[in-house]
Amino acid sequence: MKKLEQLYEGKAKKVFATDDPAVVLVDYKDDATAEDGRKKGTIAGKGAVNNRVTNHLMQLLEKHGVPTHFVRELSDRETLVKRVTIIPLEVIVRNIAAGSLAKRLGLAEGARMGKTVLEFCYKDDALGDPMVNDYHIAAMGWATPEELALISRYSMKVNEVLTAYLKELNVELIDFKLEFGKTAGGAIVLADEISPDTCRFWDSVTHEKLDKDRFRRDMGGVEDAYNEILKRLMGE
Ligand code: 5GP
Repeated sequence: MKKLEQLYEGKAKKVFATDDPAVVLVDYKDDATAEDGRKKGTIAGKGAVNNRVTNHLMQLLEKHGVPTHFVRELSDRETLVKRVTIIPLEVIVRNIAAGSLAKRLGLAEGARMGKTVLEFCYKDDALGDPMVNDYHIAAMGWATPEELALISRYSMKVNEVLTAYLKELNVELIDFKLEFGKTAGGAIVLADEISPDTCRFWDSVTHEKLDKDRFRRDMGGVEDAYNEILKRLMGE
């Protein structure tokens, strides 16, 4: 498969056309941003970690019946994925209170909650990814109620599969963000990435943060945390 012209450059990835119109090539960068792009930096080796972690987890999810955009890993940083139209929503799944939810509701970070919380945000950096509900989503035409129900079901399944899998690796899945896309044929599939950039991973025993919060909060040890996640997942 040939790598053709660049179609898009995002904050963490570049997307290239290929000679197959139904497939694009994702190239992961080491660039890191936070605060909706206002904070910028580099995390050495992040692109390779996120590419490999994402592909590993997407293949696991496929095995458990969650359709994804994954096609084939080409190199440390490059992966072929199905071409999709991204649904402009960030789906956030929360098991333990942290980050913006802890702040908004005045909870201690790490507080247990009675059940898993699902949130939707409209994907728009300029607006600060505002939280929206099912009425907004239907009114704006971002997804039909049927599509949103499917997205919610897939998101809960992702949580179930990943929570159980990571627990065995002594990693607690605190919360994470998913994005979904629609293929030319109209199928909804899991897209984007599942990585320390998009998930909160805490060591189950020490509760040490093994994710992008180390960069967001200037905690140091960022590269080590990303490499630790790769090591636990790939057994390397
Ligand atoms: P919070 O809303 O607490 O900031 O984030 C909740 C979860 O979703 C965290 O695991 C965080 O990594 C992820 N998340 C939410 N919004 C974004 C975003 O715009 N970019 C990335 N990379 N992750 C996000």
